[in-house]
Amino acid sequence: MAARRLPSFDHRACVSCAACAEDCPVSCVALELVPGGGPHAKPRLSPESACIGCGACERACPVSAVAMRDAAQGAAYPGDAASAADASAARNGA
Ligand code: SF4
Ligand code: SF4
Repeated sequence: MAARRLPSFDHRACVSCAACAEDCPVSCVALELVPGGGPHAKPRLSPESACIGCGACERACPVSAVAMRDAAQGAAYPGDAASAADASAARNGA
């Protein structure tokens, strides 16, 4: 079975345009204030379990701040800790 793919968001590169959230076909990207993300809302998977791994968010981002990754590898970016925690929970069957 192919590995599950999930987006990881680079909160430092992100310019908070919301294109990723607007293009998500299942509405599982939410923009929120996050620790270390500065004064503007940044994207998170909400909930991660709804993501179908389609990559639309990656394609929509104008500054390449979204990277699809193997879910088992955790977050690609240090600022994406929330997704890393979600991935860990998924691995542990939570
Ligand atoms: S990969 Fe697809 S389903 Fe998952 S967050 Fe991005 S746009 Fe939404
Ligand atoms: S599309 Fe890219 S720049 Fe815009 S909110 Fe999403 S991650 Fe940030």
